Amino acid sequence: MELDSHGVEQRVATGALPGWEAVEEHVAAAHARSRTHTDGAVADYIPILAEVDPELFGVCVAEVDGEVHEAGDADVPFSIQSISKAFVYALVCEQLGHDLVRERIGVNNTGLAFNSVVAIELNDGHPMNPMVNAGAIATTALMPGDSPEEQWEAVRNGLSRFAGRALDVDQVVYASEAATNQRNRAIARLLESYGRIELDPLAVVDVYTRQCALLVTARDLAIMGATLADGGVNPVTGEQVVSPEVCRDTLAVMASTGLYERSGEWLFEIGLPGKSGVAGGIVTIAPGKGGIGVFSPRLDPAGNSVRGQRATAYLSRALGLNIFASAEHTVSSRIGRNRNQGETR
Ligand code: GLU
Repeated sequence: MELDSHGVEQRVATGALPGWEAVEEHVAAAHARSRTHTDGAVADYIPILAEVDPELFGVCVAEVDGEVHEAGDADVPFSIQSISKAFVYALVCEQLGHDLVRERIGVNNTGLAFNSVVAIELNDGHPMNPMVNAGAIATTALMPGDSPEEQWEAVRNGLSRFAGRALDVDQVVYASEAATNQRNRAIARLLESYGRIELDPLAVVDVYTRQCALLVTARDLAIMGATLADGGVNPVTGEQVVSPEVCRDTLAVMASTGLYERSGEWLFEIGLPGKSGVAGGIVTIAPGKGGIGVFSPRLDPAGNSVRGQRATAYLSRALGLNIFASAEHTVSSRIGRNRNQGETR
């Protein structure tokens, strides 16, 4: 057994998914039960996103053994947007380590909108966490590479390894956001003024904007999530993308800050780390079990896919994924322990 950085033997306890057929049925049920909901509105602050078909809806579960279950539009591509933040964060943690990233970026919720300038000002120029734009832009700035082009390649390659296939940029989405992202440029300039970005801030925003325009499907998101659920090994390609420690750190940050200002409600209802994006995707991770990818473009006021949240909530309950849920102890759960064996309640 391996020792962790504190010299403690690492153990993990996560449980298992139900059988293949049950997962297959529940993925179909999650789709069928949520597709009639038409609440919410598609994002329009990036102009091109408003042109999407709002009825699109895909659900996918990828298990840590590589099995994949799909329903609906699970193979329709859309821009990853903010979901990229979680995976770029994992790549930066892998390169720079837990402590440096915690100090430079932070892990606490801002309590304010994802693109808040006020949050930076209120926290003495600290970006607060990697899931809001300030922290995400500061994180992208830490990607390895001697030029913006090299950093971009590191982002694209890294996210492609999570997905298990080469991801491409939607050039139309990229151009639409690049023409309208004055606010992100302002955030980067503000971080520069506080000494939080040492590179050309506008070049960093450009890499960040391309990162957000990478095209993924619900299936890709499920596999990317399953990689974080599988100690950093992509269960389809078998490649070790990041270490188990990096997965653990990334999931902790996603749990507390992944769903914008609704992160608390999400954890309360669903009980799993997740990350949403304004194009309508959500990735959710059940550690040791698998990843869930959902896509439907209508969003709640905080920017989270309405159908996606419903489908994920159903799957969390039906597949027994909530990490806070427990059942009463029974004698069978003691088998293998030395003390108190045979004791019953
Ligand atoms: N590219 C978007 C932005 O920076 C991502 C927003 C999101 O998905 O939350 O504004």
